Amino acid sequence: MDKNWKIETLAVQAGYEPQDGESRILPLVQSTTFKYNDVQSVADLFDLKKAGFFYSRLANPTVDCFEKKIAAMEKGVAAVALSSGQAANAYALLNIAKCGDHVLALSSLYGGTVSLFTNTLKKAGIEITFVTPDATCDEVVAAIRPNTKAVFVESLANPALIVADFELYAKAAHAFGLPLIVDNTFPTPVLCNPFDFGADIVTHSTTKYIDGHATSVGGIVVEKGGFDWGCGKFPEFTEPDESYHGVVYTRDFAEAPFSVKLRVQLVRDYGIPMAPLNAFLSHLGCETLPLRIERHSENALEVAKFLQNHPNVSWVNYPGLPGNAEYAKVQKYFRNGMASGVLCFGVKGGKAAGERAMNALKLANIVVHVADVRTGVLHPASMTHRQLSDSELIAAGVSPDLIRLSVGIENVEDIKADLDQALRA
Ligand SMILES: *Cc1c(COP(=O)(O)O)cnc(C)c1O
Repeated sequence: MDKNWKIETLAVQAGYEPQDGESRILPLVQSTTFKYNDVQSVADLFDLKKAGFFYSRLANPTVDCFEKKIAAMEKGVAAVALSSGQAANAYALLNIAKCGDHVLALSSLYGGTVSLFTNTLKKAGIEITFVTPDATCDEVVAAIRPNTKAVFVESLANPALIVADFELYAKAAHAFGLPLIVDNTFPTPVLCNPFDFGADIVTHSTTKYIDGHATSVGGIVVEKGGFDWGCGKFPEFTEPDESYHGVVYTRDFAEAPFSVKLRVQLVRDYGIPMAPLNAFLSHLGCETLPLRIERHSENALEVAKFLQNHPNVSWVNYPGLPGNAEYAKVQKYFRNGMASGVLCFGVKGGKAAGERAMNALKLANIVVHVADVRTGVLHPASMTHRQLSDSELIAAGVSPDLIRLSVGIENVEDIKADLDQALRA
């Protein structure tokens, strides 16, 4: 692999590099276990003295290649693939914060992430407070506490479609020696590399555009490398881990201490690794990701313009639409000003009229999913976000009449015609 390859080349070529006479396509190693000739080899693997495979909960050759491909596409040093995006976000935080710690997050996050933060991580003793996306740098700084361990944002919020002002959050986090964690699911590494704008850790639900065909639930955590864990706030990185005979992650794994620690502590103890078949399919999905995301973005922009002029539509939110509040940040942070394939709109007549239109769609399916090749619609207030309170809904940027449309890569004229007949039904 050449580090200077552009994203389209990395998407195809990075990750799996076959040697002479080996399979050209990434092999699916559907095996839990690996054979060794002597006991010492396995002992060395267990002691982290040697890298290799011994049990697929911790590492598997197919999953390993998928991790390398995403790490290359995000320009990071290492990645750990997990069984879902939820697992990725949970582990990204649990690797840094423990009972008694605090994390600062943006309020405009995916509903599942808000639920993870406000229910399960809260029960684990990690307190997470939220700042609104319009908070100034001073307001973000004021919300950071002595026990804060990370700042967490979503690069393009699902479904509020607010673009994180990375430079502001990176500045605030770094002033206190904290890592900035960015969930980069919606833009994908093709449209945005948060590491270029100050992020230290990137997460993805690979279930979305990276797989792209709605076959595999998965997640991944990517490490930029070079973060200073030695400022005194992160002793688990700099002090001996007795569960590995005194390994010190920043000393013994200086290149990627965050990823090694996450794998050998959290994946060892809690599990939830990515399955080899899901890694195989997600790796395959990556190969066409740059082409797909371009078409998704073109189609979404065209559909957004169409809906904006439709007599039965009350409002449209698509960050790639000139005049949208997020438009300038899309131009600044996203490749070629492309804004991905998801847009939101409201139907005149509110929630009931919206439901009627959704039920009349023929090409677009009602699915609890986004970001695959097929056009799909969802009503967050009654589906993905139904566990959120009214105030949490408003904080997440979800109004009761909001319909989320994931624009697929079908012919855009067919998508528009379907929406038109449904909106007139
Ligand atoms: C879907 C999604 C998640 C959760 O991922 P799963 O793979 O469904 O567990 C997290 N963050 C964002 C932005 C998402 O869209």
